[in-house]
Amino acid sequence: MVLNRWNDDEAKKFMDAAGDDPADRELALRVYTSRLIGGDQNLVLHGGGNTSCKLERPDIFGEAERVLHVKGSGWDLGVIEAAGLPGVRLEPLLKLRALNALSDEDMVNLQRANLLDSTSPNPSVETLLHAFLPHKYVDHTHASAMLALADLPNVEAVVQEIFGARLVCVPFIMPGFELAKVAAEVYEANPNVEGLILINHGHFAFGDSARESYDRLIAHTNAVEAWLEKTGGLVPAEATGRSEEMEARAAGILPMLRGIIGERNAEFTGNRDCPMPVMNLRTGANVQEFLARDDLATLSRRGVATPDHVIRTKNYPLFLTQEIMAGGREAVARAVDDYIAEYTEYFTTNNARLGGIKTMLMPTPNLAWIEGVGVVGISANGKAASAASDLAAQNMNVMTNGEACGGFHPVSPEQLFDMEYWSLEQAKLGKGKPPAMQGRVVMITGGGGAIGLATAEAFAALGANIFIVDLEQNALNAALETLGAGHSGIAMDITVEGAAGMAMDACIRAFGGLDILVSNAGAAWTGEMAALPDETLRKSFELNFFAHQSFAKAAANLFAAQGRGGQILFNVSKQAVNPGKGFGAYGIPKAATMFLLRQLALELGPMGVRVNGINADRIRSGLLDEGFVAERAKARGVDEATYMAGNLLRREVEAKHVGDAFVALALSERTTAHVMTVDGGNIEAALR
Ligand SMILES: [Zn+2]
Repeated sequence: MVLNRWNDDEAKKFMDAAGDDPADRELALRVYTSRLIGGDQNLVLHGGGNTSCKLERPDIFGEAERVLHVKGSGWDLGVIEAAGLPGVRLEPLLKLRALNALSDEDMVNLQRANLLDSTSPNPSVETLLHAFLPHKYVDHTHASAMLALADLPNVEAVVQEIFGARLVCVPFIMPGFELAKVAAEVYEANPNVEGLILINHGHFAFGDSARESYDRLIAHTNAVEAWLEKTGGLVPAEATGRSEEMEARAAGILPMLRGIIGERNAEFTGNRDCPMPVMNLRTGANVQEFLARDDLATLSRRGVATPDHVIRTKNYPLFLTQEIMAGGREAVARAVDDYIAEYTEYFTTNNARLGGIKTMLMPTPNLAWIEGVGVVGISANGKAASAASDLAAQNMNVMTNGEACGGFHPVSPEQLFDMEYWSLEQAKLGKGKPPAMQGRVVMITGGGGAIGLATAEAFAALGANIFIVDLEQNALNAALETLGAGHSGIAMDITVEGAAGMAMDACIRAFGGLDILVSNAGAAWTGEMAALPDETLRKSFELNFFAHQSFAKAAANLFAAQGRGGQILFNVSKQAVNPGKGFGAYGIPKAATMFLLRQLALELGPMGVRVNGINADRIRSGLLDEGFVAERAKARGVDEATYMAGNLLRREVEAKHVGDAFVALALSERTTAHVMTVDGGNIEAALR
């Protein structure tokens, strides 16, 4: 059941915050119920809904004019503000109804030309539908229950059964001018309805107040849920929870699949260095229940519950059975190639129907149903992969309900194609050159420390998905909070046996694989060699050498499973080449790590894995804390600032400079076996 979350006090708060202008106060209520709707995953997912209201505002000459405020492209309903509901002059929109046809370009241009604020985002692609309905408030969603209803073969009879004359159906037409006209005609023939069911698409509710429209939206949705429950007796499981058993199998398939898709994407784009996709695995209760069905092969070729999912999930998922996976890489690659062939055929046939005007998008899957493993979103970046998984989870719910209550029969392949290749839909995904590290999964050990976090931030700023490994749970949490959504991590002692494998598996569960390992974690033990207990040196070797080796080894094996190269970056140290008195326990394993770097570069080069490192010095961090800086400065008889800037450039070297250097090495495509200094210049520590 969807809760009605209207609250008079909350509503009043929104109005009061908007000031005295009556139109602004009404718009504030529009913002309020839009957030109520957008904040409920049962109603709206990933931009899949829109809302509007019609107001009067004075124009520049003080004359009253009617204005439609409608959701702007790029805004999320759950957190929308007034600026996310741009105002469009209503009269010019209404005049359009007289036309027989209107191109998308003209429609978008006319909507933009009539914005009250020319800097507003583009109004929703469903703007005209909102405009042509006479109601003051209009709400549109693609709620799961509504989609199960809208995709039933006998949807009209069921709508009649549930709602009598309160709701009426509109036949499937792609969003845009034609749908808006037909929906308005259907409404005008049934002027007493409270809303519309758009067949194969979704639901509209409307009313004369924000509350009336919202109340109807919730009531309609619950009425449909009740009918589904009564008819099919099926309440699909929640999307929450996870299966450790399924997750444990992910490492056996995801990196391989990621590598295969990456290879096909590289072939398709003609760019050998094309990034592999990022993957988002779901193993929640709903996924377990759904993947246990025996009709998955048929269901996987039915299509998506509402057409605007197609730009994120494509028309069909890749369906991998246990049988296919038992055949190893070759069989999985064949399944991907079959998918590509099927998609290419779908494109070619439909493009011919449109006169050959479209260019094929990447033909690899955006979604996989993997038996025994889960559902996997596959996209250019983590955010898009997660959105694809969310929609997949919703589609499972819709399919389950639909199949139990008469059948899941969404739009045809032709209609899916028209939607997928509609320029206004593709525009939702955004254009422009992707950031340099988009799609790259970067694991950083010691990622909660000063240098690790600065490195994580430098990679994240270029679009990478970060996986932090840190000894301290608190440091990990703080780092992930600093980085924001879309990153992941694990707290562990990396010197424990098996730690590297566990970290790799966790990274696979989060993103499907790995592109770059930044082996950064380290700590200093001090004492002059003649007096140093062996135990201290061994401890230092565990962290400052063996952990580097075990993580590099695990990363190299993961890279091999993907088969698309990779990178290992070491945080070495100036100590590796220029010993400091009393720092032997630190410098000696670091010197071994520097040799390891060269050894790995030599051995992994042929499989396209680059191995480089940084020699940094005198950076404020866990190794060189405030007390230590003060002590060293005093020992040298200088103030702290002079001590920290004791290099050729006479400038302090900060953690962010090390982060930027790691990124520079990562971007340097023909560099391997290289150690870069980040020390402000130190002739004694210069390598060559
Ligand atoms: Zn819609």
